[in-house]
Amino acid sequence: SWKGKISVSLSVSLSEEEEPDGRARPIQVLVVKEDHTFELDEAALSRILLAEEVHNREVVAISVAGAFRKGKSFLMDFMLRYMYSQASEEWLGEAEEPLTGFSWRGGSERETTGIQIWSEVFLVDKPDGRKVAVLLMDTQGTFDSQSTLRDSATVFALSTMISSMQVYNISQNVQEDDLQHLQLFTEYGRLAMEETFLKPFQSMIFLVRDWSFPYEFGYGQEGGMKFLEKRLKISENQHEELQNVRKHIHSCFTNISCFLMPHPGLKVATNPNFDGRLKEIDREFINNLQILVPWLLSPKNLDVKEINGSNITCRGLLEYFKAYIKIYQG
Ligand code: GDP
Ligand code: MG
Repeated sequence: SWKGKISVSLSVSLSEEEEPDGRARPIQVLVVKEDHTFELDEAALSRILLAEEVHNREVVAISVAGAFRKGKSFLMDFMLRYMYSQASEEWLGEAEEPLTGFSWRGGSERETTGIQIWSEVFLVDKPDGRKVAVLLMDTQGTFDSQSTLRDSATVFALSTMISSMQVYNISQNVQEDDLQHLQLFTEYGRLAMEETFLKPFQSMIFLVRDWSFPYEFGYGQEGGMKFLEKRLKISENQHEELQNVRKHIHSCFTNISCFLMPHPGLKVATNPNFDGRLKEIDREFINNLQILVPWLLSPKNLDVKEINGSNITCRGLLEYFKAYIKIYQG
């Protein structure tokens, strides 16, 4: 049991404009503008990562990435509940409590290709005695045209480079174009990094939402792994392009896993007044949420960000972020 193991760093000081009522919220740190240029809000990012309690701590950076309107914020709000409840058994909350966090304010609903970071960094005691800083990132893009695909690929590459765990949120299935997109993002990322004998990235989790074939592969991580093994299998009679995508993905990540999530029910998917309360979410979804979130975030499962084999602190991450963005700005 992890009761009491997560303590929240509350003293991250943001400006009036970022935190008008003193409450934590998502901060847009990277924006892709209409003319396809990137803008990093270095001041906001610095305020988050250089806060007194966290700047020298080793950092665990968790990114949830994917297209808009696929339930990322909804999931991240539950991740926040878990972090704020200090991983207690009752982290899921009350039946009629509305969800808040990434999705609760108009400002965060703008469909901006880029990266948002939760303004509070969490301090967590790992079972081995280390205290680490945990950063939550929301990475989103669109894939509907050549130019938006390119922008999104760059944003995804950046978030993969600076995260220790990338959760790739996809709808219904792992399609060939999801894999191709992933190849594109990681290729962009790898080009910008120093060559080493180490795999460039850490953990990749394929999170499949609205999985509807539980009779073939069961919900959760075990079914997910079997499913993914089949999807990522390389075979002789496959077209070379399909083989290459798979080889590339395997060569980029130290850990690859998959989780199959059930559909949350019609109220979640279609009711515009749905406010996130548990009462209106399908039981099967909640059951799997109770497995997924601790699997991603329980203190023993949090891996510190490594670059070229060294552990990175919040301060170090800020420097890498700035350096990487320069590469893409050309
Ligand atoms: P985001 O743009 O990826 O952050 O998506 P949101 O979390 O804002 O969710 C978009 C819409 O999908 C909302 O109406 C949610 O209630 C709904 N939603 C959330 N999770 C799921 C899911 O797992 N499946 C389906 N079908 N809808 C979901
Ligand atoms: Mg969102």
